[in-house]
Amino acid sequence: MQRLLAHADNHPHRNYVVIFDDLSRFARDVIFHFKLRQAFETRGIKPLCLNFNFDDSPEGEMFEGMVALQNQYHRKNNRRQVIQKMKARLEKGYWPHYPPPGYKQVKDPAHGKILQPHEPQASLIREVFEGFASGKFLSQADVVKFLRATDYSNGPIYQEGVRRLLRRVVYAGYVEREEWEVSRRKGQHEAIISLETFQKVQGKLDGKCRVAVRKSDSLDFALRGFLLCPFCQGALTASWSRGRSKMYRFYRCKSPSCVRFNKSVSGDFVDAEFVKLLQSIYPKPGAIRLAKAVVLELWEHKVGSLEQQQRSLETKLKETRRQVDVLAGRVVKAVDERVISAYEEQIAKYRSEGDLLQERMKGLGVSSVSFETALEVVLNFLENPLVIWEKRDINAKRVVLKLLFAERLAFHPKFGFETALKSPFIGLFEQFATKNSQDVEVGRIELPSESGP
Ligand SMILES: [Zn+2]
Repeated sequence: MQRLLAHADNHPHRNYVVIFDDLSRFARDVIFHFKLRQAFETRGIKPLCLNFNFDDSPEGEMFEGMVALQNQYHRKNNRRQVIQKMKARLEKGYWPHYPPPGYKQVKDPAHGKILQPHEPQASLIREVFEGFASGKFLSQADVVKFLRATDYSNGPIYQEGVRRLLRRVVYAGYVEREEWEVSRRKGQHEAIISLETFQKVQGKLDGKCRVAVRKSDSLDFALRGFLLCPFCQGALTASWSRGRSKMYRFYRCKSPSCVRFNKSVSGDFVDAEFVKLLQSIYPKPGAIRLAKAVVLELWEHKVGSLEQQQRSLETKLKETRRQVDVLAGRVVKAVDERVISAYEEQIAKYRSEGDLLQERMKGLGVSSVSFETALEVVLNFLENPLVIWEKRDINAKRVVLKLLFAERLAFHPKFGFETALKSPFIGLFEQFATKNSQDVEVGRIELPSESGP
């Protein structure tokens, strides 16, 4: 319409007739209708309509206004009905809109339309959330860089898009919409990430907490935190750097006073050297038996404490459920709208707290399983460290590291771990081999503390 008016303005000496097939197509509401009529009049444009006669008499104007008002009503009523339907779907936990990135809408006999993870975006989004929560991505700009290097999208990727993505609870399997007064609730669709991961990311975005837990940085930096700079004895930091076509892993010394300041060694090189180091270690049979006994004892202790945590979470969950019941009872009795909405707000808060507790309990289950796996890993490891190192996931690798090396290792950019072997490096096996059993320092064996929640 703007272009039509501009065209008329550019050709002031011509007389135009504009034809509409239906008066409801003329303008979206009454006010706009008459504004447009006026705009036409000042430009000498004559409107014609197939199902309506424009008539400039006072009666004609009144009739035109009534028709425009009726059209406006139909349009608004339709919109309201559409929104009501969408809202009803949302309240039942369905996503009524166009699917967000990483999902597609599929038809399902039981659910009607339901969201389903859509690859490869879904996996990439999971990687983004988990990487952001774990600190693999330090900023949203890192995420942008990461996504641009993948087949996430054919279009451009901007930081604003990433910011919105990281705020969407739909990926944790929930739905909500504030403008429609639909509070956060469990959705019917499959989650891509856990609620706990989502909350961690929100905390980071809000700047409330810096999450230092890095257990999920996948295979990237198994040796993170275990490497020292041989020149200044400071810790080497691990980071990704972007090459021409892919990302590369590096370890760096970050002590400003060090001769090796900001100089990097390739992650691949460090890993290869570490494998050589493992190859040079041979446990003695007596050491294996003793270490197994110690590990088993520690394991039983750990399981006990996991059960305790589980019980305390259960108690908290029961309490939040009781609070919801109490509040729901009060809502029924309350009369004042404001009081009711205050109660409802609190109920929503307790509900999401309850959801979070449940997620954490699930997480505990997972970590106790992974602890058992870890135990198996340790025991197998004692027979053959290298196999475990090369085949298992990062948690297993951490167990290997903690079990085998009492102290952090210096890594020389040229000589690798060679200097480390000569330095005050005490391997568990050396210790077991040289001392008799009464003198063994049990405290040297530390099981991974990050197995807990
Ligand atoms: Zn250094």
